[in-house]
Amino acid sequence: MSDDPETARQIAELSLDDRPLLVLDVDDVLLEFVRPFPLYLETRGFELKLASFRLTGNIAERASGRIPEQAEVSTLIDAFFQAQADWQTVIEGAAEAIAGLSGSAEVVLLTAMPHRHRQARRAHLDALGLAYPLLTTEMAKGPAIAALRGAGRRPVAFVDDQPTNLASAQESVADAYLFHLMADNSLRALLPPPPEGAIVVEGWRDAGPRIAQALGI
Ligand SMILES: [Mg+2]
Repeated sequence: MSDDPETARQIAELSLDDRPLLVLDVDDVLLEFVRPFPLYLETRGFELKLASFRLTGNIAERASGRIPEQAEVSTLIDAFFQAQADWQTVIEGAAEAIAGLSGSAEVVLLTAMPHRHRQARRAHLDALGLAYPLLTTEMAKGPAIAALRGAGRRPVAFVDDQPTNLASAQESVADAYLFHLMADNSLRALLPPPPEGAIVVEGWRDAGPRIAQALGI
């Protein structure tokens, strides 16, 4: 059972599937985030300089140099997600690679964002031809992945750009195959290493065959 009751409700709506399970993060795995978000911020009079891998503290108001606190940053991110259809494009190679895998695996998108953005994201993904089930969670991803797997022991692969999410998956599903994929590989230097055993991939051309091999498809 996912720890987030709304995520658990969303999982219960899915039809039972016993194929190998492929769970994908959305921002910076399927859709660009870290590249378009600074462009969006510019339109609002802010700039982003990533001195560390966090948004709060690295965004500055251009005119004054003021550094907004967490609440104001959350408002900016919220507004970006409302307008995501105008900004977030598909990451190179993702659509083709996932389509290739989806014939033999159950593909589920698991995005850590407030549930209220689910409909906007759903509509945007549909417009892009990415009709895979989309789950939102406001809590750790690991328990949701365990719930998605169900009672059996089907193989699980999980792709995310955030080491903390990979670690959460490993904690809940010890035998899951973890893939660390980042839209912008230059940001790896700002991150802690992914958990031991995670497979680092440079992009979807690399990831597709390795996920297929891991899932035995
Ligand atoms: Mg992400």
